[in-house]
Formats: sequence, structure tokens, C-alpha cells
Amino acid sequence: MPQTRLVVVEDEQAIRRGVVDILRATGYEVTEAADGVRGYEEAIKTGVDLVLLDLLLPRRDGFEVLLELRKIRPTLPVIILTARGSEDDRVRGLKMGADDYVVKPFSGRELLARVEALLRRVARPQEVERARLGPAFIDLARREISWGKGIRGDLSETESAILGYLLCHRQRAVSREELLTHVWGIEPSGLETRTVDMHIARLRTKLRGPAGCAMPEAILTVRAHGYMAAPDLLPLESKKTREVSA
Ligand code: CA
Repeated sequence: MPQTRLVVVEDEQAIRRGVVDILRATGYEVTEAADGVRGYEEAIKTGVDLVLLDLLLPRRDGFEVLLELRKIRPTLPVIILTARGSEDDRVRGLKMGADDYVVKPFSGRELLARVEALLRRVARPQEVERARLGPAFIDLARREISWGKGIRGDLSETESAILGYLLCHRQRAVSREELLTHVWGIEPSGLETRTVDMHIARLRTKLRGPAGCAMPEAILTVRAHGYMAAPDLLPLESKKTREVSA
């Protein structure tokens, strides 16, 4: 199995060194960058599995890097590094498609836990591989939505995992805490539940499709409880099931 490749984009040398050292000691292959321009160049290289991205960076800030990165590698796992107290930055980063965030100052253990949880989520096979939503076809394994006539969209790892989880439990509402535990693999806390809301909002926007597409609602909000797959979001028989039953 090839070694997992991580890119660390952080301008503060002491923090960067600490992060790189702990990741290397754990066995990851790590490339580092001290500014946004270099960071972007490293992040788009083939074979990169995850990016740790600081937001306040010289030459090109983290938001800009994230925006450009999402255009080219929409599914690449990205964890943003944010400063304590800057909730707006965290929310903005999540809205722009970051998978998770770590607040500075963080411990090595905390950082590793977030990295490992995200990598696990990426590696985990989807129980539901394909789904249908009105006229659209969703390939969860490939993280792709197709509206036909060559119109396609991409889902991030996290978005695909959320949809997969809601589809697996489509007969009931799923709480934000449950999503944090099963999709993010982290201990839920009050602050974190907003992370879930950000991702659901982004996912809904993506699933609405290009202008003019009459798309049904994919995810319902269940008051005081959480979210639920809408009746129009339907799982399709997976390849694996077909092979087994054939
Ligand atoms: Ca910085």
C-alpha cells in the first residue's frame, strides 16, 4: 500500500514544524509549504491524500487556496487550521467546502485524531453506493451527481459520507451528534453541531443542481432533532449486492 501523502500549508514556522514532525513520526509522507502559492501548487499534485491548510497565509490566503483547490480537486480532504475565537473564519471555511477544522493552539493528539478520522472516512466503503433524486443520479462511491445531458457535479468526501449515512438510516431522523460521531468520527460538542449544518447547507445547494433543474428536496430538517433523507432520495441497488446475489 502506498504511503499516505499529506500537505501542510502554514506560515508560522514553529507550528508548521510541530505539525510536520508529528505527522512524519506517525508514518505519513509530508510536504510542507509556508505560503498560499506554494501550498496550492503542492496540494494539486497527484497522489496527495489530505491537506492541512492555515487560513492566514502570505501571498495567497487560505480561503483563496481552498476555493481554487475545490475547483480542481472537489473531493480532496481538507482540514483548515483556524485561530481561536475566529468563528467567522471557521464557518466561512466550512461553507467553502473544508471537511473539518482544528482550532489553534491544538495538541498533536487532537490533530492526529482529526486527520485519522477524515482518512478513515475516505477509505470506508459506502454501504449505499448509488442513489436517485428526481431526475438526478448520484454515484456516492465516485462522489458524482449527474443530471443527464452531460451535466455533472461533484461531492466532497464528507458530503458523500453524509448522504450515504442518511440513506442507510432513511427510515428515521438522524441527529447532528450522530452525524458527528459516525461521519466525522469525533466526540460531539455543542460548538461542533454547526459544522454539520454548514455541510448540509452546502450539500443542499449542490443537489439543487444547475438553474432550471426542477429538483425535489433531498434532505429534510426535522425540528429539534436533526436531518432525514427526503422521500425522493432513493438508494439504488449497489454493485456489491448484485454481484453477491448473481
Ligand atoms: Ca498563518
